[in-house]
Amino acid sequence: MKYLSTLVNTLFLLSALLTGCSQSEADEASVEWAFALHGGAGTISQDLPDSVKQQYYDGLEQALRAGEVILRDGGSALDAVEYVVRSLEDNPLFNAGHGAVFTKEGKHELDAAIMDGTTLGAGALTGLTTVKNPISLARKVMTDSPHIFFSGEGAETYADQTDVERVENESFHTDRRYEQWQRAQEEARAITPEESIHDWIKDIKFGTVGAVAYDSDGNLAAATSTGGMTNKQFGRVGDVPIIGSGTFANHVAAISATGWGEQIMRNVSANTIANYMEFKGASLDEAMDFILNERLDPGDAGFIAVDHRGNISMKMNTTGMFRASLNSNGDRTVMIWENE
Ligand code: ASP
Repeated sequence: MKYLSTLVNTLFLLSALLTGCSQSEADEASVEWAFALHGGAGTISQDLPDSVKQQYYDGLEQALRAGEVILRDGGSALDAVEYVVRSLEDNPLFNAGHGAVFTKEGKHELDAAIMDGTTLGAGALTGLTTVKNPISLARKVMTDSPHIFFSGEGAETYADQTDVERVENESFHTDRRYEQWQRAQEEARAITPEESIHDWIKDIKFGTVGAVAYDSDGNLAAATSTGGMTNKQFGRVGDVPIIGSGTFANHVAAISATGWGEQIMRNVSANTIANYMEFKGASLDEAMDFILNERLDPGDAGFIAVDHRGNISMKMNTTGMFRASLNSNGDRTVMIWENE
C-alpha cells in the first residue's frame, strides 16, 4: 500500500506539472501520514505557572507519541485516533475519562464518538458512567453493532457485552475538577437576572480531547471524548457524540471540535467544515475560518482537522487550545496559545 501511496503522489506531481498547478500545492500531497490532537479550548490564562504548563506540554507530547508509533509503522488512522484519545483520557489533566468534570449531581457522565472517513462508519456514546476509555467502546459500537449511537443505560448495557475495562464512577474524580465544580455551583447561584446565562456559560471551563488522522493508505478518521461541561444537568448531551457536530470524517476531511457544545451543535460544525471544502472547493484553512468567523461567535470553539492530502489545520476563536500535530515529514507542533 505504501507503494500505491508513492505512485499516487508521483502521479499527482506529474499532473501538477502538466496542469500548471503550483509546486506548493503539489507538495501538499507529499506527506505519507499526518495527525493532530487537542486537549480542549477555552479561556486559558497565559499566567499558568511554568510547572503546570510543562505538565500540559508533557501530556500533549505523550499523546503525540502514541499516534506517531502507529502511523510511522503503517498503522491505520482509526488506530491512531483511538490510541491518541485513550492517552488523553487516561491523563487527569484533561476533561475526558479520568479527570472528567462533575455534573450538577456530583457525578461524571462521559460522551465519545469515533468516525471512519473511508466507510462513514461511526460509533457514539452519551451518558457513560463506568467505562474507563469511552473512545474504545465507541469503536466497538462502530465495528460490532448495527447501530451508531447508544445513550445512558443502553450504552452501559452495550458495554456489558464487551471486554472494555469498567471502573467505579468515583474513579474519574480529581480534586482539581471537584474544586472547579464547587466554584461553578457558587457562580451559578450568583447569576443575577440581568446577567445572560449565555455569558456565564461561556466563562465555564469546558474541555474535551480529540484526534484526527490521515494514514499511509489515504484513510481519514476522527475521534473525540469528553466529560462535557462543568455542572451540566443530568442527561445533557453535548456536541461530541453528535456525528457531524463535534466529530466527523469523510473522504474530504476528518474533524474534531472542542468548546461550547450547544453552539458547535447548532452549527453542525464539523460537517459544515467538510461540506464547505467539498461544495465550495475551499481549502481546509478556509473552511475552518468560515465556521469560526462566519458561523460561531468569538470565544465559542476550537477545531483540529486533517484533509485528504494530509494537510493539518488547528484553529480556535478562544484564547487558547491545547493542541499538537505531527506528519511524516517531521513537521511538529505542540502549542497552547495563538502565538508562542
Ligand atoms: N464540547 C464539549 C461539550 O460541550 C466541551 C468542550 O469541548 O470543552 O460537551
